[in-house]
Amino acid sequence: MILDKLLDDIVCMTAAREHETLDAAMLAALCRLTHARHCVMLDLLHVKDQGFVQPRSWMSAHGQVQSVAAMQAEPKRLPIARYPVLAAWMRDKSGRLTEVAERGVYTLWLPVWLGDILAAAFRIDYIAPLDAATRPALDRLLQIYTNHRQLIDYSERDSLTGLLNRKTFDTRFARMACQVTAHEAAKNPAEEERRRHAGDESHWLAVVDIDHFKRINDRYGHLYGDEVLILIANILRASFRAQDRIFRFGGEEFVILLRSVTLASARRALERFRENVEHYSFPQVGRVTLSIGFTGIGNDSPVEILGHADQALYYAKQHGRNQVRFYDELVSSGALSHGLSNQTMELF
Ligand code: GH3
Ligand code: MG
Ligand code: MG
Repeated sequence: MILDKLLDDIVCMTAAREHETLDAAMLAALCRLTHARHCVMLDLLHVKDQGFVQPRSWMSAHGQVQSVAAMQAEPKRLPIARYPVLAAWMRDKSGRLTEVAERGVYTLWLPVWLGDILAAAFRIDYIAPLDAATRPALDRLLQIYTNHRQLIDYSERDSLTGLLNRKTFDTRFARMACQVTAHEAAKNPAEEERRRHAGDESHWLAVVDIDHFKRINDRYGHLYGDEVLILIANILRASFRAQDRIFRFGGEEFVILLRSVTLASARRALERFRENVEHYSFPQVGRVTLSIGFTGIGNDSPVEILGHADQALYYAKQHGRNQVRFYDELVSSGALSHGLSNQTMELF
């Protein structure tokens, strides 16, 4: 009986091609196997050696899986110290299924280890104690989940830099732009424009292109060029927040999705990243600079949004490189005209 259920769940999980679908299948399986009242998946964020816990998806009271990926606002994150089981796992860099009983309610914690990094955890609450066969079954299911998660992760990333790849950008950006459009459909576009400039939080898309990268390859060889790409990817990871998303878009181009920040903070983060690269001493190569164009993610289509950021980048390239340019500002100052066809895309 339990084997039958387990096999059904495994079929469902291994059919998943995206993290959200895999997480949903795992949550459904955990609830089914434990007859749980409540089941949630938590992400573990590692920020400057401190652990933070943030909900990622959960089973609703109606038996539906919900995910923060579908929400506009960022969920609240709490210090890991608020979760003693998780804090102990993180400190010891190890740990397995752990059951805690308190006032007639059982809580089972399941860790998701990627190497010795605690990447996530499942928390299941139930009333009747688990029977002897269920715990080892859950342990195996967790191993299958982790293996499949690593497989999905591998297919989403670029092998040189470890950043998310172009294919992942296309999927995620289309989904994000769709959510923003649905969220803002009821709003008046002029009001939205005012809101964005007034300092309200919004989403932003930035396109980054290394300046004169061809010269680096020509002068020092392709291997040194590759090394520069890896080091810039590291600086990117260190320069942005956990909720931002960084992609390697093409050869020496990167895209950043900045989520839920004001225009001033988005600009500051991009400027800081540009300066971090400018002041970094690249082995052998020395100084490298890059140009950035960015724009707000509003009601426009993904292709239009990307085109706008690209036009701002092209403007930066034509006006001295090593600078950050904001599309909307270039349009309102008359430096760029809105709705120009996107012919800059293939130029660099
Ligand atoms: P600009 O400032 O106008 O962007 O000049 P650029 O030289 O950076 O622009 P261009 O697009 O002419 O050159 C990009 C170069 O990037 C060409 C290609 O050889 C190199 N490139 C693309 N992908 C890779 C890669 O994976 N590794 C290395 N080493 N080089 C790459
Ligand atoms: Mg370039
Ligand atoms: Mg380029």
